[in-house]
Amino acid sequence: MQHKPVLVTRSSLPDLEEYVKEIKPIFDSAWLTNMGPVHQKFEQKLENYLKVPNVSLFCNGHLSLFIAIKALRLSGEVITTPFSFASTTHAIADNGLRPVFCDIDPDTYTLDPQKIESLITRHTTAIIPVHVYGNVCNMEVIESIAKKHNLKVIYDAAHAFGVEINGEGIGNFGDVSMFSFHATKVFNTIEGGALTYRDKALKDLLYNLKNFGITSQTTVEDIGTNAKMNEFQAAMGICNLRHVDDEIKKRKRIVERYWEHLENIPGIKLNPQQQGVKTNYAYFPVVFDEKAFGKSRDQVVDELAKEKIFVRKYFYPLINDYECYRSIYSSKATPIAKEIADSVVTLPLFADLELNIVDEICEIILQ
Ligand SMILES: *Cc1c(COP(=O)(O)O)cnc(C)c1O
Repeated sequence: MQHKPVLVTRSSLPDLEEYVKEIKPIFDSAWLTNMGPVHQKFEQKLENYLKVPNVSLFCNGHLSLFIAIKALRLSGEVITTPFSFASTTHAIADNGLRPVFCDIDPDTYTLDPQKIESLITRHTTAIIPVHVYGNVCNMEVIESIAKKHNLKVIYDAAHAFGVEINGEGIGNFGDVSMFSFHATKVFNTIEGGALTYRDKALKDLLYNLKNFGITSQTTVEDIGTNAKMNEFQAAMGICNLRHVDDEIKKRKRIVERYWEHLENIPGIKLNPQQQGVKTNYAYFPVVFDEKAFGKSRDQVVDELAKEKIFVRKYFYPLINDYECYRSIYSSKATPIAKEIADSVVTLPLFADLELNIVDEICEIILQ
């Protein structure tokens, strides 16, 4: 079949003219970074869009998560999932804390709350769950456990931009939520990230921590870092925010097309549709049960690659199998996460993916 290589994702961009118009004032004022007017405007627009009381912007999602952990003054151990992107665990370990891996729920791929309590010790100070693929964690149970044991909760919501549950923005839960605006995400600012939180008192601290801990010309109160979002990133965010609802609508059509082809096929498990959740169609994960389907995940990946369709084993390997962690951890301790990591692929999904390519991808899989 004749087509250009199809990658798993493609970054959303506004029209060039739209972006040029947005960055014109930056050229006029020569105020390029350090929380300028475009940064401020974007922060407010995001508070509206995400339906949250407070947003703080950062140069990327990872450093915002790193700073959230620092701001909450966590110590000791943090319970988290191995079924995530490297960032989640690295942000914990890089803060000098010990990540403790908890297994996941086989249907939503998010932290299994039934398995959290047995991992809590007197050193535990927080839980960091991930809204994997935009699937909402079992927040009710997670937060009741946190409350009972006096633990903080930080959600890695990198996949969950614009997701709502019963009309409420996903960024309103736990102590803090982290969003990523990396080029590959549903919504991007080239690189970028944000924290959302209900406690307004965090605002100044987060501001200081992303700006070297500097609180005035002569005072440096904290050992901060440099994680500021610049004006050009914020301008990209303002442009992309105008179009994100349309982009999500287009993603929905593609996801529906995938469902038409792949629903009810023995050995193929599709991502659940959650009750009361407004989703963002961020990813299209498919789990292959080799026995029932007849082919392994890796065989499917190879067949697709022969036709120049490049999918991603996302998330594989599990974080507790990474070279930098595996001498201390074993993925045997999280068997469900291990099984999913060994059998999942995410299929190509981006707003401008053509439906006939979706048809072709499904045809190859089903052959
Ligand atoms: C993308 C991502 C991050 C990190 O975001 P960056 O903006 O790339 O730093 C963290 N966690 C998860 C689950 C992600 O997918």
